[in-house]
Amino acid sequence: MSLITPKVNGTYVTATRCEGSYIFDSDGNSWIDGASGSIACSIGHAHPTVVKAMSDACQHTSFVYRTQFSNPEIERLSARLCQKLGYAASFFVNSGSEAVETAIRSAQQYWRERGKATKTRILSRRLSYHGSTIGSLSLSGHWPRRRLAGPLYGEPTQPTPYPYRAANKEGMTAYGIACANELERELQQLDADNIAAFILEPIIGASGAAIVPPAEYIQRIRNICDRYNLLLIADEVLTGLGRTGRWLAMEHFGVKADLVCLGKGLNAGYFPISAVLFSSDVYDHIANGSGSFELGHTHSNHPIGAAVGNAVLDVLEQEQLVERAEWHGEGLKFTLQELCSKHTIVGEVRGEGMLIGIELVDPTNWNNPFPVELSAAIQATQIAFESGLVIYPSSGFAGVLGGDAIIIAPPFNIPEQATKQLIDKVDGTLRTLSNSIFQKRR
Ligand code: PLP
Repeated sequence: MSLITPKVNGTYVTATRCEGSYIFDSDGNSWIDGASGSIACSIGHAHPTVVKAMSDACQHTSFVYRTQFSNPEIERLSARLCQKLGYAASFFVNSGSEAVETAIRSAQQYWRERGKATKTRILSRRLSYHGSTIGSLSLSGHWPRRRLAGPLYGEPTQPTPYPYRAANKEGMTAYGIACANELERELQQLDADNIAAFILEPIIGASGAAIVPPAEYIQRIRNICDRYNLLLIADEVLTGLGRTGRWLAMEHFGVKADLVCLGKGLNAGYFPISAVLFSSDVYDHIANGSGSFELGHTHSNHPIGAAVGNAVLDVLEQEQLVERAEWHGEGLKFTLQELCSKHTIVGEVRGEGMLIGIELVDPTNWNNPFPVELSAAIQATQIAFESGLVIYPSSGFAGVLGGDAIIIAPPFNIPEQATKQLIDKVDGTLRTLSNSIFQKRR
């Protein structure tokens, strides 16, 4: 069994070159990277600024261990992130899952330092993805992935606003507030003295394809966390550093979290580095308490990863790519909405910036999800791949009913010409998928 997917005509494709928004194989085939890999490669492939920074870092300080030495790249990256995003301190690890684990441990340590050692449990939402390690997966409401693991520590209990399938589409404010109030209800039933934090993805990524909640939901959650003494953890591994057209997706809602997890946007796919940002309240209690942070990994604060992070920030700033993600993403979403209005298998095109979800529905069954066994999102991804377009599938978000969507999330700097090709290929993919589904049924 190969661990490498996807397949084309039964053979596995080996990428031999990546450049900008394209991926090539040795036979001269090319793909538009409409998913930035796993929604990571935000500034495109092989950007010369990052390539040079990595190469320089390898020559200067290829590795130092974090308890023995600091390094200039990590100091600069920490200062830049904290200053830009309004946080007091940062801690660097290697993957999104590790960033979430670090946030969990930090929240627990924070309360221990404050003399409330019983506050350990983290609450999370039934539609979410926070990573594949046991701790982060335990918090995740991603049923297709949970199913494959176990035993896990507990289950997500909280609702995730899902406007497309909300009963009353007119009252989004009330809907958002009602969803948030479920957290208050649970806290009244449980003992808040045992709860350390609530974690959420401000805009749902892989587990539901760019679901944007009403702003009032996030605002109300912040308010409840404050009233019940919970830290709010924003998992911005996928959304952070520009993907949604803001440096942090939380900015869309005017809310600041206590701890922020960064990953894909920070490394843009070049090197495994991720981070947790700490508010001054969290940082001060730890710094003025025990004065030491309780965890770390061999590759924490990696100088090459830090050089990549700095180079990614340079590119985002110098080429104004977060701004571009906003306006280019808005244009792309609008065009896809127009295009999809003629595809009856599309229920909704949604998202912010360069994170766009296309939800697939069964028009012969009141736009309910397609049967799970049809694997509509996977089929769409394979069809797109064979036409030279990489997209990202999302499924299982409507619970036992299934739920299928595809995510379009190209690099922020995808050129106009490649964007046009991407749109044509999405059109072709939806047409082929629809024909295939309904021909089989006839
Ligand atoms: N959190 C979110 C929101 C994610 O989307 C992901 C990955 O898709 C993770 C955490 C886990 O990141 P990683 O795969 O780098 O461990």
